[in-house]
Amino acid sequence: MAKELNDKIIEIKGITKIFDGVTVLDNLSLSIKRGQFVTLLGPSGCGKTTLLRLIAGFETPTEGEIYIEGEPITSIPPFKRPVNTVFQKYALFPHLNVFKNVAFGLKLKKMPDASAKKGFRKYTKAEIAEKVNKALKLVGLEDYGHRDVNSLSGGQQQRVAIARAIVCEPKVLLLDEPLGALDLKMRKEMQIELKKMHENLGITFIFVTHDQEEALTMSDVVVVMNDGVIQQMAQPKKIYDEPSNAFVADFIGESNLLSGVMEKDYRISFLGKSLKCVDKGFEKNERIDVVIRPEDIIIKDGEDNGHFNGEVLSTVFKGTYYEMEVAAEGYEFTVQSQKEFKKGAKVSLEISPDSIHIMKKMLTINKHIGEVTGENLVTFCGGEFEIPTDGFEQGDEVIVYVPFTAITLTDDEKDGVIGANVTQSLYKGTYYQVQVFTDSDDDFYIDTSDEWDMDDRVGVNIDGGQVKLEPYSPDESDKESDDE
Ligand code: ATP
Repeated sequence: MAKELNDKIIEIKGITKIFDGVTVLDNLSLSIKRGQFVTLLGPSGCGKTTLLRLIAGFETPTEGEIYIEGEPITSIPPFKRPVNTVFQKYALFPHLNVFKNVAFGLKLKKMPDASAKKGFRKYTKAEIAEKVNKALKLVGLEDYGHRDVNSLSGGQQQRVAIARAIVCEPKVLLLDEPLGALDLKMRKEMQIELKKMHENLGITFIFVTHDQEEALTMSDVVVVMNDGVIQQMAQPKKIYDEPSNAFVADFIGESNLLSGVMEKDYRISFLGKSLKCVDKGFEKNERIDVVIRPEDIIIKDGEDNGHFNGEVLSTVFKGTYYEMEVAAEGYEFTVQSQKEFKKGAKVSLEISPDSIHIMKKMLTINKHIGEVTGENLVTFCGGEFEIPTDGFEQGDEVIVYVPFTAITLTDDEKDGVIGANVTQSLYKGTYYQVQVFTDSDDDFYIDTSDEWDMDDRVGVNIDGGQVKLEPYSPDESDKESDDE
């Protein structure tokens, strides 16, 4: 079936979803072209399933609108939308055989017929049989109609669930981690099968996964999400080669992520070395993030034969290449090579200018709105912090600028002014950049030498001496979103 790739089938405009006061999707917009295989990718809890359920109609947005083929659908109930969903837990009817499971939806459905009393009629037995057999053929189960669903393997059951979803000929198929319950081998097989089904059906697939490799191998477009916000939406190769920020780079596959400084156009320094790069247009000495893929680093025997001298810490054979951890300038590079370098070997690492991917830092300072609640006391993000308040009076609203280095985290939540959960921890070459999410629904970024694990419960303390206050007026809120 021909694909009309430039035609938008779904448009999501400014969708926000709040559950119990928690913002799960934050003013999210995207459009999906007809016939594409689009994957929503992101860590657990980032809002992928919620977005899918909003498109399906199982949830309603707190704000924003969803359009299918240009029509707003928010007030249209799920069963009237031209979409169908395949869930991770396929929930087949155990008392019905494969044919009857697939036919179930069709038996309830009515088709337009001008000669019928109400302008609609039910499908005939022959029509149902034709449609069910066609759907079963598409999923490779044409001879399985009579089989008891309990006698099928997990992969076969998932195929039945897909047949059941496509038999009503939806324009969009929503797939919520449909391969999540399968073992690795079956999962790989089903990835190929799904891709083929997508090509044969010619309809739009929106696929949810937290598996990077699955997203990159299957999709026309990948939407990387974190904390209810789209981090990047692009073709898989672009996402891999040119991640738009440190989160995407870290989330998509193995990478070496470092913090650096853009000395001038085409010149960068990191780990104490100044190197050529292919990027320009940054401010002089702007702090940036650098990503170098393990396969892009050239590793050579002996020292003084590249940009960094290093020592091999470990070597693992990965089937078609060796992956080595190499200590150099206090950083542990991950390097992939066809050639094996033994543990303990002294090596040189060479990095060509076009292997250095540079990304703007997402944020360079934490910025929050607060109120002066006493002499040298400022309340923001659900806590009262000691911060010099010279020039301000009690009751003044202020913008609070907290440098990443001004925050310390404590093991015991009670030792901090406020409590928070660690949501991200990225090693940046010489320090960790940790993101925490406070109970007041705010984010803080912290640069620290300590490693924290995802979901650690921590206390947050701030060195008030490093904090800067500015008067806040409501107009500033526009400026704030521009800055981010
Ligand atoms: P996973 O891969 O783990 O399924 P996800 O990215 O699909 O994660 P969602 O299922 O969309 O994430 O959930 C996003 C956040 O919204 C989570 O914190 C979840 O607990 C919360 N959430 C989802 N549905 C509800 C609900 N009905 N009521 C309250 N909170 C909800």
